Amino acid sequence: MGAGITGLSLAYYLRARGVPHICCEASAEPGGVIRTRELDGHVLELGPQRLRRSAAVAALVDALGLRPEVIEGTGELPLYVYFGGRLREVPFTIATFLRTDLLTWRGKLRLLAEPLVKRSSTSAESVADFFIRRFGREAYENFLGPLFGGIYGSDPRAMHARYALARLLALEAHSGSLLLSALRMASRGGFSAALSFRRGMQVLPRALYEANRENIHLETTVRSVRARHGGYVLATAAGEIEVERLVITTRADQAADLLREVAPEAATRLARLHYNPLAVVHLHSPARRPGLGYQIRADEDCRTLGVTWNAGIFAERAGVHTSFLGGWKHPDIVNGPEARIGEIARAEFETMMGEPARVIQVHRWTHAIPAHDQSWTALDGLELPARIHLATNYTSGVGVNARIDEANALAGRLADAA
Ligand SMILES: Cc1cc2nc3c(=O)[nH]c(=O)nc-3n(C[C@H](O)[C@H](O)[C@H](O)COP(=O)(O)OP(=O)(O)OC[C@H]3O[C@@H](n4cnc5c(N)ncnc54)[C@H](O)[C@@H]3O)c2cc1C
Repeated sequence: MGAGITGLSLAYYLRARGVPHICCEASAEPGGVIRTRELDGHVLELGPQRLRRSAAVAALVDALGLRPEVIEGTGELPLYVYFGGRLREVPFTIATFLRTDLLTWRGKLRLLAEPLVKRSSTSAESVADFFIRRFGREAYENFLGPLFGGIYGSDPRAMHARYALARLLALEAHSGSLLLSALRMASRGGFSAALSFRRGMQVLPRALYEANRENIHLETTVRSVRARHGGYVLATAAGEIEVERLVITTRADQAADLLREVAPEAATRLARLHYNPLAVVHLHSPARRPGLGYQIRADEDCRTLGVTWNAGIFAERAGVHTSFLGGWKHPDIVNGPEARIGEIARAEFETMMGEPARVIQVHRWTHAIPAHDQSWTALDGLELPARIHLATNYTSGVGVNARIDEANALAGRLADAA
C-alpha cells in the first residue's frame, strides 16, 4: 500500500525477482512526498531536495535509463550553522575543524576527547544527552543539535536515541569511538555526492511507475483491510483485492486507520506517533555560495529551521533556495496565511545571508516528517499479524536512500518466502 518511493521501489525489486505483486496508491500521481513543481522556469522541490549517490541509486538510474537526467553536486560541499549573526562552517574535514569558528578551542579539545568516552549503559538516553555525552555540550549546541534536529524538525532533547540513533548506538557498541569511525569513513572517500534530476526529484518515482505501471494502481485508495483464508482482503472503490501478504508504506496515522480491524492494538500504537508540520518556502536570490545550506542554532530568535541552497548544490538550480519553517519550535506557523509565511522566510533569509530575496512559492505540510520524539515509545512491543509488514520512514530510516535500501532488502525476504 502506497506508491511513494518505498512502495514504488519495493514493487520494482519484487518485479525484478519475479514475485507477483500489486501496489495501490490513493493519489493520482506517484511519488508520495517526493513532489516536484515547475514555476516561472524554476524546478522546485516541495519534499526532499536531493538524495545521495549510492550503489543502489546508481543501479536504479541505469536500469531506468535516467543517466542523461542526473545532476550531481560537486565534491564535498560545505554546510553551515547560523548563530550569533554569522554562518559558521561545520567541520567535516580536519582543515575545516582547525579553521572553523563554530567551536572554541575548549570545545574542539572536548570533541577530540570523544574516543575516551565510555559506552552508554542506559537505554533511556535522549539524542541530546547522547551527543553531549560523546562530544560535549558545545559541539551539541553549535552543530550536532541543529544538524540532527533539522533533519526531523524535532527537538533532540525530546528524541529517544534508541529510535532516532539506532545505527550510531550500534556503531558505539561495536567500535567504541564515533569520531574514529567518521575519520576512517572520510579516509575512504567520505560522504557521497548529492544527486537529483534535471526535471526534479519526481523523475525517479515517475520512471519507477512507468517501468511497472500494470502493477501500480493510482487513484486506488485502500479503505479497509480484513483477514480471509490466511491472507488479506483490501477494500477499494473499484472492488476487493485479495493478497497473501501486505506491505504498508503509508504514514503512521493512515496505517493505523487501515489496521483498525485486523490489528486494533497495533493501530492504537501507530496512531500515537507524532509528526512535525513544516512550511517549505522557495526563494529566489542572487546569493551564490557553494554549499549545502545552513541550519540554525535552537536558541536563535527566528522561525526558520534551516535553508537548502539548491543553487549552491546544483548549477542547474540557479537562483533557487529553499527555506524550512515550523517544526517543533513553531508548529503553528503552517496555519498562518501563505503570504505571511513567505514574508518571514524572505526577511530571515536576507538577515542571515545579507543578500536580497523574493518569494517564489510557499507549500505547507501538516504531517511532514515523523518526529521520532517521546511518542515513539508507542512502538515498544508493537506486534503485527502474520504476513503484514511495515516498510516506513517511522520504523526505519527517513532519507530517500534508506527507503530504497529497505525496499530492496524486504523484496529479497519476500521473494525467499514466496
Ligand atoms: C519536506 C520534506 C523534505 C525532505 N527532505 C529530504 C531530503 O532532502 N533528502 C532525503 O533523503 N529525504 C528527505 N525527506 C524524507 C523522505 O522524502 C521521505 O522519508 C520519503 O520520501 C518517504 O517515502 P515513503 O514512500 O516511505 O512514504 P510517502 O512518500 O509518504 O508515501 C506513502 C504513500 O502512501 C499513499 N497512501 C496513504 N494512504 C493510502 C491508502 N489508504 N491507500 C493507498 N495509498 C495510500 C500516499 O498517498 C503516499 O503516496 C523529506 C521529507 C519531507 C516531507
